[in-house]
Amino acid sequence: MSLLVENLCKDYPTRGEPLAVLRGVNLQLDRGDAVAVMGPSGSGKSTLLHILGTLDTPTRGRVTLDGVDPFTLPEPQLADFRNRRIGFVFQDHHLLPQCTVLENVLVPTLVGHGDRAAVRKYADELLERVGLAGRLDHRPAELSGGERQRVALARALIHRPTLLLADEPTGNLDRRTAQSVGKMLLDLHRQTNTILVVVTHSQELADTFPRLMLMEDGALRAVGAPGKAASDERITRREDGIFPSGAPPEAAR
Ligand code: ADP
Ligand code: MG
Repeated sequence: MSLLVENLCKDYPTRGEPLAVLRGVNLQLDRGDAVAVMGPSGSGKSTLLHILGTLDTPTRGRVTLDGVDPFTLPEPQLADFRNRRIGFVFQDHHLLPQCTVLENVLVPTLVGHGDRAAVRKYADELLERVGLAGRLDHRPAELSGGERQRVALARALIHRPTLLLADEPTGNLDRRTAQSVGKMLLDLHRQTNTILVVVTHSQELADTFPRLMLMEDGALRAVGAPGKAASDERITRREDGIFPSGAPPEAAR
């Protein structure tokens, strides 16, 4: 298994008893797997994604990605692991406003000494696949919401990560744009053979995924049959504050 999550628990300290948000999450995913995670607001979906993305640490339990428990790594190695193995897409694009489309996609590659020409070629290729080949020099302010998310998608994939995480990636988009960005996300995931975990409130988006899981009482459970849209067990939609604890951590940008 490329991603193994075992009895993952997360408590947040409070003035009283600690708040047990994750109470034993188990998950096994391999390259090529895609899962949509739904669940009520405050059920711990973002917390789980942040821990899978190594932006937050578990209280108990274990995460293994490509055979490595990232939480055993010292900080410089952890940052490198996160940068190379994990791609993030957030509800808000988190693009750098002063940088062009191309520069934004290349930002994760600025550390390290990779083959610049190869990286540039892959950035061009990704931007072409998301339909922005003609917009390389544009700044985020000159793009629509859907186009910004497509840049964010290309940026998340620039290092050919094992794990692609998306927290409400279509949450700020109108329905039609959400459909096209959702389709692009799944298409790119298939083309790049990543593990894709998407948190969403959109039943429409979730129905396009081969697997659906529900976060409830601090644990994940599978809903519906694999390979089949899970619309037979509809999930109550609730409006959500996406980052109740504030903006995502700096490392996510
Ligand atoms: P979801 O994404 O499912 O809406 P979250 O994972 O954001 O839920 O939050 C789950 C619970 O954990 C909420 O009750 C939230 O207030 C709490 N929480 C999230 N982050 C923190 C934090 N840094 N400190 C304390 N409590 C937090
Ligand atoms: Mg959330």
